[in-house]
Amino acid sequence: MAAKIISGTQIAAEIREEIKQEVVKLKEKHGVTPGLVTILVGENPASVSYVTGKQKTAHELGFFSVQDNQPADITEEALLALIQKYNKDPKIHGILVQLPLPKHVNETKVLYAIDPDKDVDAFHPVNVGKLVIGEANYYPCTPYGIQQLLVRSGVKTDGAELVVVGRSNIVGKPIANIMLQKAKGANSTVTICHTATKDMAFHTRRADILIVAAGRPKAITADMVKEGAVVIDVGVNRIGMTPEGKAKLAGDVDFDAIKEKASAITPVPGGVGPMTITMLMLNTVKAAKVAAGI
Ligand code: NAP
Repeated sequence: MAAKIISGTQIAAEIREEIKQEVVKLKEKHGVTPGLVTILVGENPASVSYVTGKQKTAHELGFFSVQDNQPADITEEALLALIQKYNKDPKIHGILVQLPLPKHVNETKVLYAIDPDKDVDAFHPVNVGKLVIGEANYYPCTPYGIQQLLVRSGVKTDGAELVVVGRSNIVGKPIANIMLQKAKGANSTVTICHTATKDMAFHTRRADILIVAAGRPKAITADMVKEGAVVIDVGVNRIGMTPEGKAKLAGDVDFDAIKEKASAITPVPGGVGPMTITMLMLNTVKAAKVAAGI
């Protein structure tokens, strides 16, 4: 039986609608407008496009949004001072520094300078630590999006065998930690695989829920998936160009073969991707509420 396709595009649109309504309520009842600044250093085309997408969404949702463009040769000191300025700005609740930064700037130092309460990307070690001990204010955006895809598609996570392929700090480790928590929409039995895993198929074949963030096309083939599993494909790989001159994208799993075996699967594009910006917006609304004591 062909798998149900979990549409990130549709679920993200639903969440954005909820955010829009919440923003209206926050303004009317509390006089609070969520504020997001995105800081872009230099003109890397991919970064420009990401930041433009974030600003456009923030604007559509009724946020106070600031796009702060800085030259590629900005000094580390000047960038740290800029972050301090936004840390103190009461109109700004979320600060996002678009990565990568130029080589002369210490990325870690910059990310650690963001006030953890305004760290809507949730990369600050305070927020990473809070996630691990189950006291997170914010989840990092891509893993948060993955969890919402599962929850809003009605996938039973409680007690599920959940296998994550990949252990990066932005996807693999945080999604494993989110799904491990003794909480609603989580409470799974979690296994993490990586390049030193001896027999990856042994683990993936046990998975009720398989989350793949390896960054390799077809890292997971149909023989590695259990009949009826739910498969979340985080990968975004450029595998060529379309006749229209656009980048042709593929995920990390063999979608066509696995969709005949899984009970549900996310497509690429249109799966995890659209969720990431949406969760950034949700984190910014949370930050605005925390700042206002709501
Ligand atoms: P990453 O930092 O390169 O990490 C990849 C992880 O996968 C590593 O832990 C690596 O293991 C593991 N791995 C790679 N090949 C493997 C294999 N054959 N078997 C087992 N493990 C393997 O990548 P990332 O930043 O987590 O991103 C992963 C993918 O998700 C990329 O395609 C990226 O573009 C995509 N992504 C999408 C979004 C979105 O919003 N849709 C957001 C973030 C990332 P080792 O640790 O042993 O090297």
